[in-house]
Amino acid sequence: MNVHDSERLAGLLEEAGYVRAGEGQTPDVIVFNTCAVRENADNRLYGNLGHLHPVKKANPGMQIAVGGCLAQKDKGEIVRRAPWVDVVFGTHNIGSLPALLERARIQQEAQVEIAESLEVFPSTLPTRRESPYAAWVAISVGCNNTCTFCIVPALRGKEKDRRPGEILAEIEALVAEGVLEVTLLGQNVNSYGVEFGDRYAFGKLLRACGGVEGLERVRFTSPHPAFFTDDVIEAMAETPNVMPQLHMPLQSGSDRILKAMRRSYRQERYLKIIEKVRAAIPDAAITTDIIVGFPGETEEDFQQTLHVVREARFAGAFTFQYSKRPGTPAAEMDGQVPKEVVQDRYERLVQLVEEISWAENKKQLGRTLEVLVAEGEGRKDEATRRMSGRAPDNRLVHFTPPEGVTIRPGDMVTVQVTYAAPHHLVADGPVLNVRRTRAGDAWEARNAPAEPRSRVLLGMPTIGRPRDAAPAASGCRTR
Ligand code: SF4
Repeated sequence: MNVHDSERLAGLLEEAGYVRAGEGQTPDVIVFNTCAVRENADNRLYGNLGHLHPVKKANPGMQIAVGGCLAQKDKGEIVRRAPWVDVVFGTHNIGSLPALLERARIQQEAQVEIAESLEVFPSTLPTRRESPYAAWVAISVGCNNTCTFCIVPALRGKEKDRRPGEILAEIEALVAEGVLEVTLLGQNVNSYGVEFGDRYAFGKLLRACGGVEGLERVRFTSPHPAFFTDDVIEAMAETPNVMPQLHMPLQSGSDRILKAMRRSYRQERYLKIIEKVRAAIPDAAITTDIIVGFPGETEEDFQQTLHVVREARFAGAFTFQYSKRPGTPAAEMDGQVPKEVVQDRYERLVQLVEEISWAENKKQLGRTLEVLVAEGEGRKDEATRRMSGRAPDNRLVHFTPPEGVTIRPGDMVTVQVTYAAPHHLVADGPVLNVRRTRAGDAWEARNAPAEPRSRVLLGMPTIGRPRDAAPAASGCRTR
């Protein structure tokens, strides 16, 4: 969600006339889009702002803006602690950024504007998409749950759902630009519809995505087990472009801890959903999020988490050590687990998750997969001459491109898996098929050397005016 918000901030600034600063150039504007979910987010923000203080002193026209969840939480505190910050904006008013920068410039004083509820559904704002072949599409923002470890409801507010027609129009526009894959985004993606009173809205939306001509891959993140209805599983299984993949946060396998977390499902329900998904979509890769060391967690509770990991056979898991988030109920709970106990459980959990994900990956050996070629997913690709991409189930696949054939990010290749590691697959045999796509064309067009363009410039006409009568240049670097 944060990455997608950053795309919108970039889009807003581009539309207001800003251009990306070149490599090594001192930018005129720096925007921090902060997240409050991770530990130490505030230390990192104030550390970064501290490093920028001397840069700002040396470049007085530079502007610094801070937005996102941490800004929503700290509000005016940010300019008190770092008075060289020019703009603070919250999660509900990201659309105000260009106006706030302008106002700070004119009034020569910091602008702090935090809205308490959403002003405009963010997807209606301009967006500078990072990828020409895969795109995020927000279907809802905010969350009506009250998980005791989570700061999201306090900072992002109640769930707001976009109307299905608007979502489909955005997807169609993206596909027309070359996008092949969309990921539907929501803090609680499958409770979509709660605001307009249709509990089957999410399954219907998946099926509607199946009807979008040219849309090859649909994913979504993250669903909540409590809202996972059978019609969604049916829609996933029966809609060919919905990919065989499910990321469903577990958080804990212990019923006692789930209750303390205020997560309203229990172990049995979670495993039942997995069983149904596996029955309907046998190839599905299922991944999850798990927290260890939640207040009051005993060894027996932790064993329950390990039990679910063994039963569910996750293809991967994001594992977290519980740490207090100020402002959440869990931060005040008794029974905080000592750091060394959390560390020990965490290491045991990671070991089990890796064993299982490796065993699951080994089952992929010999399979023929169609891979959507990605840009920069493999850190070692340059050294190994490989390229990388994602299989339908979202597994990362490295492959060796054939000599003399140009394969572009966004194209599709068909390969056979020859090696499995815990976090990726390798296909070192010949590429069986290369499918050039509209997404690859879009990538190529975006990366083509820029042609000098003649532009219509706004401002006072200078033609015919004596040289010394030219107006002073304004302070900002715009197109
Ligand atoms: S459902 Fe997700 S976003 Fe909502 S409160 Fe729980 S953890 Fe936070």
